[in-house]
Amino acid sequence: MNIHEYQAKAVLKEFGVPVSPGRAIFKAEEAEAAARELGGPLWVVKSQIHAGGRGKGKFKEKEAGEKGGVRLAKSVEEVGEFARQMLGRTLVTIQTGEAGKQVNRLYIEHGSDIEAEFYLSMLVDRATSRVAFVVSTEGGMDIEQVAHDSPEKIVTFTVDQASGIMPLHGRLVAGALGLKGDLAKQAERLVSNLYTAFMAKDMEMLEINPLIVTKDQRLHCLDAKVSFDGNALYRHPDIVSLRDTSEEDEKEIEASKYDLAYIALDGTIGCMVNGAGLAMATLDIIKLYGEEPANFLDVGGGASEEKVTAAFKIITADPNVRGILVNIFGGIMKCDVIARGVIAAVRTVGLQVPLVVRLEGTNVEEGKRIIRESGLNVIPADDLDDAAQKIVSAVRGGK
Ligand code: ADP
Ligand code: MG
Repeated sequence: MNIHEYQAKAVLKEFGVPVSPGRAIFKAEEAEAAARELGGPLWVVKSQIHAGGRGKGKFKEKEAGEKGGVRLAKSVEEVGEFARQMLGRTLVTIQTGEAGKQVNRLYIEHGSDIEAEFYLSMLVDRATSRVAFVVSTEGGMDIEQVAHDSPEKIVTFTVDQASGIMPLHGRLVAGALGLKGDLAKQAERLVSNLYTAFMAKDMEMLEINPLIVTKDQRLHCLDAKVSFDGNALYRHPDIVSLRDTSEEDEKEIEASKYDLAYIALDGTIGCMVNGAGLAMATLDIIKLYGEEPANFLDVGGGASEEKVTAAFKIITADPNVRGILVNIFGGIMKCDVIARGVIAAVRTVGLQVPLVVRLEGTNVEEGKRIIRESGLNVIPADDLDDAAQKIVSAVRGGK
């Protein structure tokens, strides 16, 4: 689960991490009062969306002005003006895709005098099963580009959770960033506090870009992006309350109501599969035959007819879907249940696109008979390979 920058900063602040004072606002009328309360002389008005690259982003509407999604303001009036320009407008950044994201919240914070910008992130490294730190002197910019062009400028190390965070780790960060004296001490404290926050809140990823040194020699977090492990959310009601569902894919929210493992993707072939492994294989084989899947969907082992119907509705609600592939290997899941669910769903939502169904396993004959006798225009397939080729050719207009 992701949260907004201002929320991430509030969480980090609880752990003694240095962030700027700021106020989140939802209405442009609140901007000037918030700016006055904070005090000047410099403010930054920051779009709050679940995507990075806001500073270099562009708004779609010309009323939003020429500047990006993060703006430096030199007066209370200017803060108000930016708020009126930005709120409700659509910001496009390298991370939002062309559609962009509507800005419904702004964060107004103290402007900092920046001497240097660094990069610091933490994540769970699956290869070592440890929390990894990634630091670089090349902050404030696209870290993927740095990794590509000059990988030697990125320093990473992992922390053994048995011994926990130690002064050594702080020194590694200070060394990588070329910090000495008091700044090195600040780095040690920061690293320890960030690690404590990361573990205490079951974070999955934390990114501070930029981490800055101010003109008065303080280490300070100017941006914060945090995501949490969904499987641990049950023990963090405070974090769950920060959820902003307007930032999430509607289809994914709907799927979570039915306990369906659904992930929206960019392609054109909707997939309904049981079992995560088979679902992944289905996505791979669609790509192998030259098309792109519209989603990952694992309906699970014991899906009911109702669940299958819900899944089908979610798939067809995606306007990009030009064909649907149902691929079921009935083990615990029974083919006749899937068949009935598919038929029921098609009857309620209609079928505007080709549908290929591949059934195998428990009650397969019964399942096939149900589909055959439904009179619906379903293309049957014998195995995964056959199914993938049939749906790819169907969305390309062939048969
Ligand atoms: P994004 O990564 O989405 O572009 P950031 O929060 O990193 O958003 O802001 C972009 C840039 O704006 C930063 O790299 C920094 O140079 C500047 N900036 C952000 N917040 C402040 C602030 N409080 N004071 C001064 N400059 C800021
Ligand atoms: Mg940033």
